[in-house]
Amino acid sequence: MDDKVKEEVFDRDDWTCQNPECEKKSPLERTPHHCLFKSKYFGKDRDDPWNLVTICMDCHYSIHFQGNQKLRYYFEKLAKKRNEKFSNR
Ligand SMILES: [Zn+2]
Ligand SMILES: [Zn+2]
Repeated sequence: MDDKVKEEVFDRDDWTCQNPECEKKSPLERTPHHCLFKSKYFGKDRDDPWNLVTICMDCHYSIHFQGNQKLRYYFEKLAKKRNEKFSNR
């Protein structure tokens, strides 16, 4: 992923974890998360800001390795809202 895109996403999200229930809002370490997982969405634009959110390492871990479906769907919805391609359906 392009570093410029990463920074744009972090900037838009105020460099804070976008999980509304996250306890450490200003994480030392953050990462961009693909709202629509790479394995699920094959569009070329999946690395664009609409599909990315800032998330701390702990929350990221809970989505990918602890099966946090609630958080996963929350971000999926958010991304679909941001992309008119999905919201028109
Ligand atoms: Zn992720
Ligand atoms: Zn978090």
